Amino acid sequence: MNLYTHRLPAGVSLETQADVLCVCPSCGAPHMVAFYRVESVPVHSCLLISDRDQAMAFPTGRLCLGLCETCGFICNMSFDPRAQQYSAQYEETQAFSPRFRTFAEGLCARLIDDYDIHGKRILEIGCGKGEFVAQICAMGDNTGIGVDPAYVPERDPSGRASSVTFIRDFYSERYAHLEADVICCRHTLEHIGQTLRFLRTIREAIGKRERTLTIFEVPDTLRILREGAFWDVYYEHCSYFTPGSLARLFRAAGFDVDQLYLDFDDQYIVLTAYPASGTQPCLSSLEEDVAFLKGAVGGFARTCGSALTYWTDTVTRAFRDGQRIVLWGSGSKAVAFLTTLWLDDAIACVVDINPYKHGKFLPCSGHEIVSPESLIRHPPDQIIVMNPVYCDEIRRDLSQLGLRAELLPVTSCVSA
Ligand SMILES: [Zn+2]
Repeated sequence: MNLYTHRLPAGVSLETQADVLCVCPSCGAPHMVAFYRVESVPVHSCLLISDRDQAMAFPTGRLCLGLCETCGFICNMSFDPRAQQYSAQYEETQAFSPRFRTFAEGLCARLIDDYDIHGKRILEIGCGKGEFVAQICAMGDNTGIGVDPAYVPERDPSGRASSVTFIRDFYSERYAHLEADVICCRHTLEHIGQTLRFLRTIREAIGKRERTLTIFEVPDTLRILREGAFWDVYYEHCSYFTPGSLARLFRAAGFDVDQLYLDFDDQYIVLTAYPASGTQPCLSSLEEDVAFLKGAVGGFARTCGSALTYWTDTVTRAFRDGQRIVLWGSGSKAVAFLTTLWLDDAIACVVDINPYKHGKFLPCSGHEIVSPESLIRHPPDQIIVMNPVYCDEIRRDLSQLGLRAELLPVTSCVSA
């Protein structure tokens, strides 16, 4: 079945292909149905690259999203974890954004309040630069351990006299001895291919401590399907969750889901869980069933096709009219946007507020990452905003720099 009627960039396919042999990593079902392919994308989005030639020669891999029609899990069936290198050169933090910091603070406050997280031991798996574990420890007078190979000691956010320690490594069975009252794992599970195995590792580490709270946060893939958000599909994210598929995975791994809700303008799923008590699970109203998800995946051919056509036409037309167009936000979304559409020189550069990224280059497309201040020398006419949640913040930054430019948030094609 091919629902696609749009013009696609080279290397992109929206045809469905049934019964691809790939065992579902979340439920073990023997096949998945492919529905979106991009032939060549960079295997990393957030590694700092100092040289344009090196950036343009960056290693690539294949994206082939497939749906498990048994549990609703979506993954990149062509993902090869050997291509991944998370290190101190991995620059993923969003903590330079006041909007993001407000969200993270609010999340901490809500969790501390809901679960009385005071004087507790916190373990954060995939803590990045450590901002969240430092914050929840400071706000609730807790002690914490952060585990992440991309942690950088020189940028310790918890200050001296800290109650937080860090381990620069991947979490695995090796760390099962780290006892905690609360286990957090935010924006990490979507980077892990063997999802059920990973959650079972955590469940086994918890053992008989049955009041251990786990808190997970991942992007919501239903939004991606609804918006045709091809910029949210990239190699680093091998696993894609919806509220229903995430809750089903947790139950399969031996947990009872406690809370399940959307946050950050409905972009993220937050799930809290306890080890399973053996009672009948209580389903959340947010959990969609697999039939609904199949419909949403079917709709992606249309929404994604429209989004690809809209952005190709919008940028090409503006460039031909002599407009200077830049992207704002140099994370994975920008990399996916540029390496799906291949707009080359039509995008002048990519802006980011994170000073660690300035002067670096995006993988494969080779675009330079510049500071907002650098726009004063070469003012843009249009700015494609890679996450609309930051539009107000960007307007304020532009105003302070005395710049005026039209903002084009990526979702603007949905209503077009
Ligand atoms: Zn499955």
